[in-house]
Formats: sequence, structure tokens, C-alpha cells
Amino acid sequence: MGQIDLVDISKSYDKQKNVLDEINLSIEEGEFFVLVGPSGSGKSTLLRMIAGLEDITSGTLKISNEVVNHLPPKDRNLSMVFQNYALYPHLSVEQNILFGLNAKKVDKEEQQKRLIETAEMMGLSELLKRKPKELSGGQRQRVALARSVVSEAPLCLMDEPLSNLDAKLRGQMRMEIRRLQKRLGMTMVYVTHDQVEAMTMGDRIMVLNDGKIQQVGKPITLYNEPANLFVASFIGSPK
Ligand code: ADP
Ligand code: MG
Repeated sequence: MGQIDLVDISKSYDKQKNVLDEINLSIEEGEFFVLVGPSGSGKSTLLRMIAGLEDITSGTLKISNEVVNHLPPKDRNLSMVFQNYALYPHLSVEQNILFGLNAKKVDKEEQQKRLIETAEMMGLSELLKRKPKELSGGQRQRVALARSVVSEAPLCLMDEPLSNLDAKLRGQMRMEIRRLQKRLGMTMVYVTHDQVEAMTMGDRIMVLNDGKIQQVGKPITLYNEPANLFVASFIGSPK
């Protein structure tokens, strides 16, 4: 059994049209799983349903074999990084990183321990007293990642976390996120519309178009054996 199981998951916002259509999928523990597809294909909706930020119209969602359809986000033991990585502008880097831990009632001593470790790991040790506006785009993105890492959640969801960065930094951050995920052994569900990002980062990739799964597989399989013309042209394989 996978760590995340989606069984016949469908979603409609207005009962007119399914924006996700009978999604069946298992994501394994410790896997770096990429959801890729064009804009409007339903990636964010799917991720937000896993996070508990969006109602499930029909179907069953399980995390660690437990049905979580109606479990509130805070009880799902996951962390999330969004595209615009919403840091609090009036709080320091340190306060931003620790923000979620107060709500979780992690004691002060443990918070400091995690802060020091995480800042070290993310190269933020020298920047803890700064405000977000005093940071570069890459540094801000690291703070958002640190905030997610410090929660020590076994499951991390990321929605296009690098799309606001320039190409060079994006390449660097891809590697950092991969390294971090392996080191912490967390399960990652990573959303992108960028096929290069998908191909270089994913253990497995799911290609989504118009709310329907086109193919799920390893990057090499999608490249060599695309299931249909859409996957072939989206991934850029020769067939
Ligand atoms: P992606 O992240 O792949 O770009 P989304 O999950 O954001 O796709 O959107 C999938 C579809 O659902 C789109 O057609 C979008 O317009 C629609 N949609 C997303 N959020 C809402 C909402 N809150 N209300 C109505 N329709 C929505
Ligand atoms: Mg989206």
C-alpha cells in the first residue's frame, strides 16, 4: 500500500464539468512524485485536496492507509510550499521559519534546536534576523523551504515552488530540494508545468491533461514509451 492513495477521485467546482476525473493513484512512502501538466489541467486542485484545502467531490483519499477525506489540514501531518511562498513581511527569517511550530505546541527548546539545524542545512544561519525584503529571491525561497522542513512532517507538498525564480537559480534549487528530500526521507508530491523539472526531479511522474491521467511512470518510461501523442509531445520524446 502506498503512503497516499487516491481511489476514484473526482472533483467539480460547479457540477458542470469534472476538473479531475476518476483519478486512481498510489504514491509510495519516500517517493519523489511529480504531477506535471499544462496550466488548468488540475494539478493544484489535486494537491490542495491532498492537503485538505479543497473538498473531494467523490472518491476516497487515504494517507498512511487511513481515510482522510474529512480530516482537517492541520491533522494530516504534512507541510506545503506554494508558488508565491507567502512569507510574513513583518517577521524575521527566524520567526517565519518557526511560525507553524507554535500552533503545533512544540516547546521552545525543541524549536531552537530545529531552527539551528534547519538554518544550517538551508544555508540561512547568517540571515536569521533579517526581514524578507532584505533577502534575494533564492534566499526567500530557502526560507519557505526551511519553514516546511522544520515541521518535520513526513509528507511534503509543493506547488510550482520555483516558478518565480530565474533559470540559473531554478536549476540550483531543483538539486537542493532533491537532496533535502532524500536526506529527510520524506514523501514528496511536487507540482510543476515544466517538463524539464519533472524529468530531472521525479522518481515517478504523473502527466495530467484536462483533469485526466495520461500516464504514470518513471521519466525514462515516459520518454521511451509515451502512452499517447499528448505525453509524447509534452515530454518531448522522439515518437
Ligand atoms: P493547474 O494547477 O493545473 O493550473 P487548477 O487545479 O488550478 O489547474 O485548475 C483546474 C481547473 O479548475 C481549471 O479549469 C480552473 O479554472 C478550475 N478551478 C480551479 N479553482 C477553481 C475554483 N476555486 N472555482 C472554480 N473553478 C476552479
Ligand atoms: Mg496550479
